[in-house]
Amino acid sequence: MENKKEMRNWLNEFNLNHPLVIAGPCSAETEEQVLKIAHELKDSDVSIFRAGIWKPRTRPGGFEGVGEIGLKWLKKAKEQTGLLMGTEVANAAHVKLALEYDIDVLWIGARTTVNPFAVQEIADALAGTKKIVLVKNPVNPDLSLWLGGVERLYNAGIEKLGVIHRGFSTYEKTKYRNIPEWQIAIELQNKFPDLPLIIDPSHITGDRKMILEVTQEALDLNYDGMIIETHTDPDNAWSDAAQQVTPDALKQIFIDLKVRKLDDVSDEFTQKMKKLRANIDVLDATLLELLGKRMKVADEIGLVKKAANVAVLQNNRWNEILGKMILDGETKGLSEEFVLRMFKAIHQESISHQDKVLNA
Ligand code: PEP
Ligand code: MN
Repeated sequence: MENKKEMRNWLNEFNLNHPLVIAGPCSAETEEQVLKIAHELKDSDVSIFRAGIWKPRTRPGGFEGVGEIGLKWLKKAKEQTGLLMGTEVANAAHVKLALEYDIDVLWIGARTTVNPFAVQEIADALAGTKKIVLVKNPVNPDLSLWLGGVERLYNAGIEKLGVIHRGFSTYEKTKYRNIPEWQIAIELQNKFPDLPLIIDPSHITGDRKMILEVTQEALDLNYDGMIIETHTDPDNAWSDAAQQVTPDALKQIFIDLKVRKLDDVSDEFTQKMKKLRANIDVLDATLLELLGKRMKVADEIGLVKKAANVAVLQNNRWNEILGKMILDGETKGLSEEFVLRMFKAIHQESISHQDKVLNA
């Protein structure tokens, strides 16, 4: 993608001295609900009101959105509050209707980004639009699919593009609804530094108590904005109840966030270093997490060896691994000496884990 600088222009047009905020309910439920929430958000840092009209549900039988009538409510909310309106589109028919009702921001949901046919259909329906189009990451942790979505839209002549990081699903149970896998978003940010990057802490956490913490992490990583599900009666929301905050709670989040000022260009060096160090911090945390997982596997091996009454150290296997790692390391620009030292340390730790298990 050339002309990358242009991608940031739409964000600059908002002329904000803080990150962009998109807020509103997971789903439009009734006209009254839409208008009430929009009015509560209008005199705050919120620039764009969100509400899902068509809701992709994992299992049939859930609330699938109010459909076209909701677009009328959004239009009314825009007239009354001046907020821009945003909604999710999943096919060409949605796009056609959203454009008819002059929706300002259209986003492609995580379950759609995984499907290049659907993304292409949307890109064709939107070709050349001046609307803002945001691409959520796919549900699976695949950077290429995410980039592919952006490229399909870009190739259709859509210039006001951005991406939303909403986390990735895992089979493993974690404290998140969708694990962030920060390094994937950072890789995307490194590839396209001028593509606005927006955090969706609601779908990452699935829990309103964790919204502030995840948003802060994102701002520390230089994200450009946030999309936060907000409802006047979150507990009784028709979808995603546990993760929505009230407008008052949202305003408190704005107060508590330590926001890096966008107009503070004091020192380019400091800014650059801050960003790079934040990248390093994320990578280091990922390394530690992986090492922790590796030692858990070592513990399990210890148990299997104990059951079979086999010695901890099996030299043949270790020499094989090491040879392979040195070759692999070379292709990644790591010296033989470093790879040897690092794996020796990891191996030591692994052995002491297994020893503990065997002698327990
Ligand atoms: C949503 O924004 O309400 C939504 C359905 O999000 P996602 O596509 O990230 O699951
Ligand atoms: Mn939702």
